[in-house]
Amino acid sequence: MRGARRDVPAPSARKDRFILVTGGSGYVGSHAAKALARAGFHPIILDNLSTGHVELARWGTFEKGDVGDDLRVKTLFARYPISAVMHFAAHAYVGESMGDPGRYYLNNVGKSLVLLEAMRASGVKLFIFSSSCAVYGTPLSLPLKEDHPKNPLSPYGKSKQMVEEILEDYCRAYGFRAVCLRYFNASGADPEGETGELHDPETHLIPLALRAGMREGEALRVFGSDYPTADGTCIRDYVHVSDVAAAHMLALDYLEKGGESGVFNLGNGNGFSVRQVIQVAERVRGEKIRLASAGRRPGDPPVLISDSTKARRVLGWEPAIPDLETIIASAWTWEQKWRTLRAVPADTKPKPVRPG
Ligand code: UDP
Repeated sequence: MRGARRDVPAPSARKDRFILVTGGSGYVGSHAAKALARAGFHPIILDNLSTGHVELARWGTFEKGDVGDDLRVKTLFARYPISAVMHFAAHAYVGESMGDPGRYYLNNVGKSLVLLEAMRASGVKLFIFSSSCAVYGTPLSLPLKEDHPKNPLSPYGKSKQMVEEILEDYCRAYGFRAVCLRYFNASGADPEGETGELHDPETHLIPLALRAGMREGEALRVFGSDYPTADGTCIRDYVHVSDVAAAHMLALDYLEKGGESGVFNLGNGNGFSVRQVIQVAERVRGEKIRLASAGRRPGDPPVLISDSTKARRVLGWEPAIPDLETIIASAWTWEQKWRTLRAVPADTKPKPVRPG
């Protein structure tokens, strides 16, 4: 992978380093598990498979279970010498959260609290949290910096803000150190084609643009054409999922070296409208995509563009795949591949590994 990375210790120095990766069978979590394993860490993947896929839990040890199951989580901390937690497990549909907020607060906030309490009881104090640009709401100024006021429009965004605030208290009162990574639009797939986006139902623009029309009569719905943007559609900052995973590695290194708790935006700083994304997806697919107009999707701010200077400066993060066409091309490669996943060979399926 291209791009400057801060020095990381040699893999041999890290063989005994166990990192708990909640939601490690999901989209971003599986990319992070791969990055951890590649750097010589041993990911312990805790995932209840409600939305994750066992086929994507290919790196480290897979432990099926729920992050809200206090006993299960404490047992993992007792069994493995886990030194830090990367917390990906969460519900992540903005639209769904508007209709069913309780589900989001219970799962994203309640279960994060159970996890934090289990960490506290077990003496594990380093935490890397999957937060979101959804905490900002409608921007008052662009690009968004970390100190922009937080006015989330959806229960999903609010659930991320609440966990960030709980973490502040845990850091102050219990000596935790936490990095909250506010992802903009994580997209694309592992450049080696080993993992990628596999949501069910899929709601994200890029995979839907790449699938639209595959079935007779199916069109891609454009949610809102009357936003105050040049072409009337929403603008987002698309960041490659492997770059998001790399930021987790840098955050871990930063915390291990004694870095202070903090929040960091992760985005490329370039905004693309829904229509621009569709045009690039058409180039990648080599064909026109059938479109259908639809109303605005509740909870969607018109424009989200990051200022990620802080992650670059403090963590040494440098996105390796900032180009939208390359991001979408990696998603396209994955689109051709994931349907064959059910036939993953036995020797690449997760195996139980015991420490020592
Ligand atoms: N979008 C769209 N049609 C779709 C899915 C998404 O027009 O079928 C729009 C959505 O309203 C938003 C942008 O595409 O403005 C990105 O949405 P996505 O769900 O991919 O990510 P989000 O911004 O919700 O994290």
